[in-house]
Parts: sequence; C-alpha cells; structure tokens
Amino acid sequence: MSKLKIAELFYSVQGEGRYMGVPSVFLRVFGCNFKCAGFGMPRGELSREAEELGEVAHLYNKYEDLPLVSTGCDSYASWHPSFKDLSPVLTTDAIAERIMEILPHGEWRDEHLVITGGEPLLGWQRAYPELLDHNSMHGLKEITFETNGTQKLTPEFKEYLQRWRAQREITFSVSAKLPCSGERWEEAILPEVVCEYEQVGTAYLKFVIATERDFADAERATEEYRAAGFEGHVYLMPVGGVESVYAMNNRNVALLAMKHGLRYSDRLQVPLFKNEWGT
Ligand code: SF4
Repeated sequence: MSKLKIAELFYSVQGEGRYMGVPSVFLRVFGCNFKCAGFGMPRGELSREAEELGEVAHLYNKYEDLPLVSTGCDSYASWHPSFKDLSPVLTTDAIAERIMEILPHGEWRDEHLVITGGEPLLGWQRAYPELLDHNSMHGLKEITFETNGTQKLTPEFKEYLQRWRAQREITFSVSAKLPCSGERWEEAILPEVVCEYEQVGTAYLKFVIATERDFADAERATEEYRAAGFEGHVYLMPVGGVESVYAMNNRNVALLAMKHGLRYSDRLQVPLFKNEWGT
C-alpha cells in the first residue's frame, strides 16, 4: 500500500483562487523544492525566520503550536527538515479514513479536495491514484493541486488524471514564484510545465505580489506563459501570511488587478482565521 508523508490534514474554507469560499479538505504533503525566503522582505534580502525556528524545532510537538511567520514561506514546517518529525507517514487507507472523519457528513457532498504542500507534485504523484481510487473517495468530484508549477507530471500520473477527469474536475492552482519570493526566475518560471497541466485539467496562475515592481514581474512571466500557449486565467494575490502584512497589501493588489483587468484572489484564511496552522 502506498504511503504519504502528511504535514497537515484538515477541513476548512478554501481561501484562495477559483474555489474561494468552497468547503474543502486540505491534504498538505511534506517537502518542497523551494524555500521562498524573499516574501515580505526588501527586494534582494532573504528572511531567516524559518531557519531560526528550525533551530528551536524541538520546542514544538504539534503543528497547532508552531508560530506564524511574517516573512518567507508561511507553511515552512511543511518542508523544513527540522520539522519533519511533526509529519507522520500514513497509508492511503489511513488518510482516506481520516478524511471521512473530518467531512461534516462523513461522506463527500459539495466539498472539494485540495492537495497542497510544500510542493504536492514532487515524488508523491505515485501515491495519489491509490488514494483517489479508495472506496470512500468515490463521491469526490473536484480536486485542486496547489503547486508552484515546476514539477512535470509523470507519464503514469498524467494518464491516470486523464481518465479521472472524465467525470470529475481537476484544477491546478499554480502559484508561480516571482523574484519577490527569493527564488530564481530560471528555476521558477517554467511555462512548458504549466502548459502540460492544461492537458489534464484547468490551470490558472496565481501571482503573489506586493508592489508595482512585483506586478511588472508578473506581467513578464505571463507573457512567457502565453507565448508557450498557456490559456488559463491569471490571478493576483497579496503577499501576507499574517494579518499586518496582508492588510498592508490586499487593497493595493485588488486595485492593481482591477486596473489591469486581471482576477484578484484574496487569502481569506488570514482575515477569517489569522492563517493559523490547520486553517
Ligand atoms: S513553493 Fe510554496 S511551499 Fe514551497 S517554499 Fe515556496 S511558498 Fe513555501
């Protein structure tokens, strides 16, 4: 039986993108190919918050106790090696069972499944078919992969998704990382990878930005995706994993989105739930 290393598994309201407001089960897998230490920092500087928390990781026994960070990746514990022991390795059976426990009616109705991370399209692709084929998952009709858009689909998983989508809806919410994330353009903006997602589902780009300069980067990246044939929608979403930073950016980013005829994505989990772990 396949296993997945699970950082978090919880039920909440989707706060971002296409399914904003939809009741959702979030399956957060462990591991990421990026660190995104640039978020919320002056241009060119990198946050040390995740590293500093990693040095005292032994003080924390569960996700709910972990501090929030105002700079860098807001889900640092889902990839930082110092926190790996907080993420159990579970069989697909155990995960499916837990999902049934947290769904309000003990079965899928209008809820959708979000597979997030970390980066959910790393090696875990091999385990998803077994999870999605589990008896208790048959009522599931909509799924979103929240990805950074750098991981190619394996031929096996691509073929599986092509079959799965015959009666169901697959979405790739691609949060492509701009320079404000601290990641390198050449490694983060990979249009051919995202165009491939469009072959098996609906894909959209969700750029996390704060300034006009970030927006200029988003425009440049969009041109590269469009030149490669990308057809999906483009969302702008404010930087802000904590309320103080979110509140500094949300209105300006909404105005930028309006000005340029793009979609605005909120991050409802911040004003609703303070972006606490498990929300
Ligand atoms: S890609 Fe996402 S999960 Fe990975 S470090 Fe960046 S923000 Fe965090």
